[in-house]
Amino acid sequence: MQPRDLSQHEEYVAGRGIEEVARELGRDPAEFVKLASNENPLGPSPAAVGAIRESADDVHHYPKAVHADLVAALAERWDVSHEQIWLANGGDGVLDYLGRAMLDPGDAVLVPDPGFAYYGMSARFHHGQVNTYPVEEADDFDLSPANVFETYDGERIVYLTSPHNPTGSRFALEHVATIAERTDDETLVVVDEAYGEFTDGPSAIGLLDERDDVAVIRTFSKAYGIAGLRLGYGVVPKSWADAYAKVNTPFAASAVACAAGLAALEDGDHVEETTDLVRWAREYMYEHLEAPTYESHGNFVLVEVGDAGEVSETLKRRGVIVRDCSSFGLPEHVRITCGTREETRRAVSELNEVLAE
Ligand SMILES: *Cc1c(COP(=O)(O)O)cnc(C)c1O
Repeated sequence: MQPRDLSQHEEYVAGRGIEEVARELGRDPAEFVKLASNENPLGPSPAAVGAIRESADDVHHYPKAVHADLVAALAERWDVSHEQIWLANGGDGVLDYLGRAMLDPGDAVLVPDPGFAYYGMSARFHHGQVNTYPVEEADDFDLSPANVFETYDGERIVYLTSPHNPTGSRFALEHVATIAERTDDETLVVVDEAYGEFTDGPSAIGLLDERDDVAVIRTFSKAYGIAGLRLGYGVVPKSWADAYAKVNTPFAASAVACAAGLAALEDGDHVEETTDLVRWAREYMYEHLEAPTYESHGNFVLVEVGDAGEVSETLKRRGVIVRDCSSFGLPEHVRITCGTREETRRAVSELNEVLAE
């Protein structure tokens, strides 16, 4: 037998890991820095690590109380009601829940191009069709309602990534509001704020007081540094928040993840140290890279390098792993995650040498 027709489905291309690259090249993993997956270079909050250890003895229980505790903390933080917080197995899990809650077979969604691959993947899992709106290099990857309305045709979900991956640009909050206003009543605008902690702009969560057609995604994978645990959440309008109970995979956010997330949320110092470092690294890259860069509101910088495949291969052999953006449809760009000061300086000097060759 065979699975259903998956010919329209694509595989997710993840940033390459150090172990994987070191093995391929027959080298010591310690020689490499990985700036390819927008992970936190400072690692997890020490408080989260403590919470992970403490929860170990308790993992024979299903996560009920700790799930409720984390929901309560997030609801308080964003000033929304408990049912408006949809915990999930990563931000990706939230995308799935929104797809389950919104899409009937054959419904279309509108995704940015270039953009995060999982929007389209998740929609296809839910028997949806995928249309795209352009994010143009000619406009410095600027994001405004004009991008969306160039192709919008009544899709059921429109995805906005703000700050955007891989470009680092963002939608101004009034632009998000305009898009929600001008799209159909039955179009949900999903604002993916996976990088929300790295921008000084306000969250779109504020729009939920007045609108029932906007949902926001946040994650613990980036600023909070616990990507390996898989924890994210959606914030949805009150009027349909009860759908969670009907679309949620039972206990998808694990006890260990919820405990770590709660500790990380309360460790404001770690987040601040992380965002300070990111601000420094972005500036350092703009200033010292001898290649065109784009202003970024995330923890990474997009760089125009010519042949991205070749440049990232050469850099890899020099011990620096960056994200070749060909799979995003940008064959001339690489995306470099903000590293520690030492890692960032090394990446910049290696890339400058490669480009000078
Ligand atoms: C990293 C990322 C996410 C979420 O990742 P999870 O690890 O699943 O939480 C969502 N959207 C974008 C654009 C991302 O870059």
